[in-house]
Amino acid sequence: MPIATVNPATGETLRTYDAIGADEIERRLALAESAFREHRTTDFATRSRLLHRAADLLSEDQDDIARTMTTEMGKPIAAARAEAAKCAKAMHWYAEHAEALLADEHPADADVKDSGATQVVVRYRPIGVVLAVMPWNFPLWQVVRFAAPALMAGNTGLLKHASNVPQTAIYLEDLFRRAGYPEGCFQTLLVGSGAVEGILRDSRVAAATLTGSEPAGRSVASIAGDEVKKTVMELGGSDPFVVMASADIEKAAATAVTARVQNNGQSCIAAKRFIVHSDVYDAFCERFTAGMRALPVGDPMEEDVKVGPLATEQGRADLEELVDDALNLGATALCGGRRPKDFDSGWYYEPTILAGITAGMRIHREEAFGPVATVYRVADVDEAVGLANDTPFGLSSNVWTRDTAEVGRFERDIEAGGVFFNGMTASHPALPFGGAKRSGYGRELSGHGIREFCNITTLWHGPAA
Ligand code: NAP
Repeated sequence: MPIATVNPATGETLRTYDAIGADEIERRLALAESAFREHRTTDFATRSRLLHRAADLLSEDQDDIARTMTTEMGKPIAAARAEAAKCAKAMHWYAEHAEALLADEHPADADVKDSGATQVVVRYRPIGVVLAVMPWNFPLWQVVRFAAPALMAGNTGLLKHASNVPQTAIYLEDLFRRAGYPEGCFQTLLVGSGAVEGILRDSRVAAATLTGSEPAGRSVASIAGDEVKKTVMELGGSDPFVVMASADIEKAAATAVTARVQNNGQSCIAAKRFIVHSDVYDAFCERFTAGMRALPVGDPMEEDVKVGPLATEQGRADLEELVDDALNLGATALCGGRRPKDFDSGWYYEPTILAGITAGMRIHREEAFGPVATVYRVADVDEAVGLANDTPFGLSSNVWTRDTAEVGRFERDIEAGGVFFNGMTASHPALPFGGAKRSGYGRELSGHGIREFCNITTLWHGPAA
């Protein structure tokens, strides 16, 4: 894949970049390591000052970087500004809370006295240079949610961003440099995915985090496994959105629209499979379909557009294949199911709802990465839980019900990294984020996220004399 900015709203290639070569990769690896030796010794006050500064600069840059993101991957401009604001908030949050999240732990004397220690301390020390392989769908947020905790923990970062968002990738290195981070603390490597293996196998890289598709995750996790290096994997999702009979149907249907089409339908935690109790199935589908039909589709630079183009031509082709497979096997489109007629160029796709899904259709098991929902009718809570879990993925889930017994059942049985009741999944700096099953492992955000890339060190002291 060439490293280039190609506007998905027009298909026009705006700028191409040469990948850096072996000498430059070597220079940057050496810099990352030497920066780590320094950065690991800095105190939390210093790290916090730097990260607050980076967050302030990002807030100042909000309009410009939002336009860059929209140009590179097509998200509606209002959502791009919101993404930048969310990143600044998360940076401030880690700048404020990292010290407490990584505070020394002192096991109770009673628990450790038979170890012979006079004193035991558990300390979260940084792990080293962390390689981040990141996707284009939230080109700022995915990076910030790795970088903010990593830098606060005393690690240094190397970013291999998706090849279609090079300007955002370059902006991020520049942001941390302008904030005053010493050279090498955070670097962007303009490389294709073929260069990842060599970088990851380099002894100066301690660990890796990847957000992206399952095949990319499998590849990076196997190389890291071979090198016995820690990884965090944030992979795909096909989150269920369950609507039970007691739910507030108006609210559930309105939220379903947003939950499915946010980021033009290209979010790992977008609700993708809508599992609806038969008592409210018709009422829900009527409202959901009306909501999807009413969405303004168009140029993502326009303020009131809610659904822009898909980020890549290949992404739209993949989505079309999934929809066509379902339609050919007997599914029906309650709305959409094709490209919109009004656009001569750009990779647009109509907001779509498919009903009549059966287990043999690809879309039943694969992730639909675009504005395409599937709806299923279920008779009771057992069937709802069974269908919610009938997927290789387990990222998050959404459940709409006012019945406390049902709440308990979903809390216990849904196989996912999150269950959001009467709302839609959203990430938040203070809440752990990550998946189960093929959606990956490890957690980002919160105290769990910052501790993933720490060397949890036992400091055991015996009697001095
Ligand atoms: P992708 O194709 O897997 O790309 C993600 C990153 O991995 C890019 O930087 C890509 O580089 C790189 N890459 C691809 N194949 C690789 C390989 N074999 N070895 C090393 N690096 C490789 O995914 P995407 O299309 O950008 O993103 C969509 C996927 O990400 C969806 O499945 C979505 O659900 C998932 N996602 C998950 C989360 C989460 O938090 N769980 C969040 C967002 C997205 P190139 O661009 O150079 O190919």
